[in-house]
Amino acid sequence: MTDTSKSSAEGIDVDELDIAPENGWNALYLDGEWLPAGDRDLIDVENPSTRATLTTVPSGTADDVDEAYAIAERAQPEWAQRPPQERAAIVSEARRLLGEYADDLETLFAVECGGVQLKAGFETQLAQGTMEVGAGLAMRDGGRRKDSITPGKENLLVREPAGVVGVITPWNFPLYLSSRVVAPAIALGNSVALKPDEHTPLTGGLVLAKVFEEAGLPGGVLNVVPGYGPEIGDHFSAHPVPSVMSFTGSSEVGRRVGRRAVGSYTEPALELGGNNAHIVLPDADLERAIAAGAFGSFTHQGQECISINRHLVHESLYDEYVAGLADRAAQLPIGDPLEEGALVGPVINERQRDKIVGFVEESIARGATVEAGGGHDGLFVEPTVLSGVTNDMPIARNEHFGPIAPVIPFETDEEAVRIANDTQYGLSGSVHSPDVARARDVADAMETGMVHINDQPLNDEPHVAFGGVGASGMGRYNDEWILDTLTTVKWISIQREPRQYPY
Ligand code: NAD
Repeated sequence: MTDTSKSSAEGIDVDELDIAPENGWNALYLDGEWLPAGDRDLIDVENPSTRATLTTVPSGTADDVDEAYAIAERAQPEWAQRPPQERAAIVSEARRLLGEYADDLETLFAVECGGVQLKAGFETQLAQGTMEVGAGLAMRDGGRRKDSITPGKENLLVREPAGVVGVITPWNFPLYLSSRVVAPAIALGNSVALKPDEHTPLTGGLVLAKVFEEAGLPGGVLNVVPGYGPEIGDHFSAHPVPSVMSFTGSSEVGRRVGRRAVGSYTEPALELGGNNAHIVLPDADLERAIAAGAFGSFTHQGQECISINRHLVHESLYDEYVAGLADRAAQLPIGDPLEEGALVGPVINERQRDKIVGFVEESIARGATVEAGGGHDGLFVEPTVLSGVTNDMPIARNEHFGPIAPVIPFETDEEAVRIANDTQYGLSGSVHSPDVARARDVADAMETGMVHINDQPLNDEPHVAFGGVGASGMGRYNDEWILDTLTTVKWISIQREPRQYPY
């Protein structure tokens, strides 16, 4: 393991980066203004590599949430009246600015959420992609006309913005997961109140405020309230103002948010956890399956809803697969993301690390064997491969969200499908076989929102439906699928001739 004791934050003042607001990040963004923290409590934003405090931001209160929604509600009708090309142009400009600030973003991803350079590149690209597609939505699908069963009537289906959109996002891909809602919402004429995760208030929220402000977005259309979920989340999600409550995060909190939103007649859009299976059939190209398996398990320390949580490998390939994966895991450079060449950074916090380590230890106690890794240093958890795993062990049953690859053997395709589906989640997955018809049968039988043949589950394209089933959520993101979430269709009929009523 590389030496991680030195302070990676040394020499980096996030309040002085080019992308930072004039007076630094310690502010809420309301009505187009950077509102200083005042007497609010503060959130220490920590670098997970060094545990050094990077900066502080205000801990938003219930009053701040009320204000953010009230401002958004006032700003929305006028914004929706702007011609679509104007709305699209502002989102496109925000996209361009992300490119201009790519170096600052790379630094922020490294120090705020432990993302290595490779992950920073993926995330900036994803955020730009969702802005590109989102901008295009402004000019798309204004509605349609339908014939009527009533003589002399014309039916018009008019698409209108949903109104105010509440957005709650997690820390793992903060900029992207916020952008994939904020950008299309704004392009479509909605206004937004955004609460980023308390670990990543900068990349999850305030950065977006900054680029949209610079892109010329009128004040009030996007409002950002940093804050602790357990403190203001309930108030945020049950608020009467928003028409849509978009939540990305854990299934447990998502269920609570969804219930509270529905209680206020707000439509929930929930993107939640996963327990994704990577299935390697007996005729698979072993090297390809192993390479995909390593990428799907260890990228961003396994902290993605679509990471591989379980490797299901045919018994005839099992030993070779485990050895090959262990070999790759052992070679991955671990280190502070600011260090050149680091591929595995820290996990986000102690709670997360202790959860991961606990699942590994409990699974070892129940018969699993460590084939690579198994240790940790501070928040750096070694890429770990476990053999002899069964689907009832804690590391397989739970979404471990760590750089851990539990490998489970199976005998038949049917058994692989049964094991893959034996979870409450249904987000993503992958199947390896050169026989695409066979792989397709397995993909069809997997109860997930997404499956990737001869790849791994970690895929997201801005123009392709993204989402899960079961405890992995409801609704779909990206392109036309989020267009349905962020707009409402109004039926306007015109009775052009007098109608004959029965009385
Ligand atoms: P989390 O649910 O603990 O936190 C997510 C967000 O919810 C944060 O902003 C947090 O402040 C907020 N929150 C916490 N308590 C709340 C409450 N009572 N009311 C309202 N909001 C509250 O999630 P996490 O563990 O930090 O993030 C990881 C989880 O997110 C994993 O389960 C992962 O699979 C999931 N995730 C899903 C997707 C997807 O697209 N399906 C993408 C990324 C992450």
